[in-house]
Amino acid sequence: MKVFTSLEEWKRLRPGLTGSLGLVPTMGFLHEGHLSLTRRAVAENDLSVVWIFVNPKQFGDGADLEAYPRDMERDLALLEAGRVDYVLAPPAGEVYPPDFQTLVTVEALSKPLEGAGRPGHFQGVATVVAKMISLTQPARAYFGQKDGQQCVVVRRMVADLSMLTEIVVCPTVRDADGLALSSRNVRLTPEQRRAAPVLHRALSAAQESIAAGERNADTVRLKMRAVLDAEPLAHTEYASLADAESLEECGTETGAVTGTVMASLAVRFGEVRLIDNVLIEVD
Ligand code: AMP
Repeated sequence: MKVFTSLEEWKRLRPGLTGSLGLVPTMGFLHEGHLSLTRRAVAENDLSVVWIFVNPKQFGDGADLEAYPRDMERDLALLEAGRVDYVLAPPAGEVYPPDFQTLVTVEALSKPLEGAGRPGHFQGVATVVAKMISLTQPARAYFGQKDGQQCVVVRRMVADLSMLTEIVVCPTVRDADGLALSSRNVRLTPEQRRAAPVLHRALSAAQESIAAGERNADTVRLKMRAVLDAEPLAHTEYASLADAESLEECGTETGAVTGTVMASLAVRFGEVRLIDNVLIEVD
């Protein structure tokens, strides 16, 4: 495995590589969720590259950026064991030099859900993903369903900008109690950690209610809220039921739930903000 901190050095290497390249963008502090992506990238491509970069442009809040956990040594050991070929781990000054001035905006899809509470977040994501794709020219790039809106935004960008990369979305990896793995989970106190599976229970309540025939979106949202409200440590930012492609809230006109919908949540436990979602096929 070769690790690059210099993007210029990588740029010199890339034209000489042959075969398909699989890209896995991450912010590091790797867990099984990330490793499920790298395994796919290694299995499905001739070469694999993992990007480790805590992207300041997608953090609105400097404190959250500072508090984001990091452990490069451990990350590199995990990737080496996973037979990854290349790691790009550039410093922020290399990714965004002082004269940097290009930003990628995916308009409507960036506005609701995560975009509403974190203005500029998806502009930061789209800009850095566009940069990674330009630099690595991957056949496939791997993302987790865990960040459902991110997948939708990235797919739109790749289609709109006619990028040749295929976006592969991998299932959310969860702990045994249902909590989606996240680098942020280590910041939960033991008490908050015990409370955190409430996100999964709320999403399951939405799934079960739709499976049982409920088609009124407000009723489904209220069911998620009721589960979340029963947990005193959980402070809900949103509990959404939206069209999985347009991200428009279901039922704003008709009250009906149809097609593929995404139930998604953002919930704070003290300082730690967790998100999760499930896709639900409605027949
Ligand atoms: P992050 O380092 O949090 O930016 O995540 C990097 C990639 O890993 C993103 O595509 C995430 O959606 C994905 N990811 C994070 N957590 C999980 C998980 N629990 N299961 C599957 N993919 C995940």
